[in-house]
Amino acid sequence: MPMNSLTFPILRLLSDGHFRSGEALAAQFGVTRATVWNALRDAESHGVRLFSVRGKGYRLPEPVNFLDRERLRALLADHANLYTLEIHDRMESTNSHLMRAAAEGAPHATCVITELQTAGRGRRGRAWQTGLGDSLTFSVLWRFDCGAGALSGLSLAVGVALIRALRELGATKAQLKWPNDIVSGRKKLAGILIELQGDMDGASAAVIGIGLNLRLSEATRRAIAQPATSLQELLDVPVQRDVALATLLRHLADVLALFERGGFEPLRDEWIAHHAYHNAAVRLLLPDGREIDGVAQDVAADGALLVRAAQGVQRFTAGEISLRAAA
Ligand code: ATP
Repeated sequence: MPMNSLTFPILRLLSDGHFRSGEALAAQFGVTRATVWNALRDAESHGVRLFSVRGKGYRLPEPVNFLDRERLRALLADHANLYTLEIHDRMESTNSHLMRAAAEGAPHATCVITELQTAGRGRRGRAWQTGLGDSLTFSVLWRFDCGAGALSGLSLAVGVALIRALRELGATKAQLKWPNDIVSGRKKLAGILIELQGDMDGASAAVIGIGLNLRLSEATRRAIAQPATSLQELLDVPVQRDVALATLLRHLADVLALFERGGFEPLRDEWIAHHAYHNAAVRLLLPDGREIDGVAQDVAADGALLVRAAQGVQRFTAGEISLRAAA
């Protein structure tokens, strides 16, 4: 078996977190120990951390709860037939993959999930960090009759879906941070990246990428340049990855159906009610390097943030602006 096709079968076997010797793994797959070793090096080269102890073999630092397609479909219940599910072992970026697939005609509500994302993206070329089994990284394709110009509030609407799902999962302290982060105690828990295809006024398509931390290794935490948190830190009982994913996908479908009918406006009050920075002193970092201090006062029906600043109320549209707590 070529090296790369053995990597994930071995990782699945190691997913219980127990040691397996190189010899036992080789026997199990009918290959040499060198082939096993190569497959494990392949995993490590993609950022998978492995412990190896002489005499004991290899193990993953923590058990990994791989996704099961049939269980996921059962958990999706009424929504199972809406989504076309694609579960991959590893992928550079689910958004990049789905943007290409969308251009080639992938169906509405295709959902691409990867167990391991090796080059996750945020806005403006920033990176999204994850480790195997530590997070949910997936993207959903949603096709709209309206043009991309009418989708300005979409990323905020998706934030409402995440908040509803996280509350159902018990993370009652999860909040929003304009334009599209999910935070808890002002630490980042999840991120949303939306990329659009199509004309400003013809039909359009949105690829909605979501990254949610279920747990954070110290290595991942160190790689993130801002305070981050995970569901594990917010919940007493750990949540299974497929339960979390199904909950997110159910709420996402419901919120997107509302958005299709009325845009962001019907979700606006709910969004503001969960904004971590509502009426708080904030600093906005603009793409040209300017910083503007003020108080986050409101969010408009198109998703723009209204900030009371020294010069009066200013309006900011998402895109390239980052919000921080005032210094
Ligand atoms: P900001 O978060 O600075 O307002 P943004 O909303 O544009 O900017 P995104 O593009 O959504 O940020 O996400 C990328 C940023 O998120 C990275 O620059 C990093 O600081 C942070 N980040 C990366 N991986 C994670 C993670 N697993 N958990 C929390 N935050 C992360």
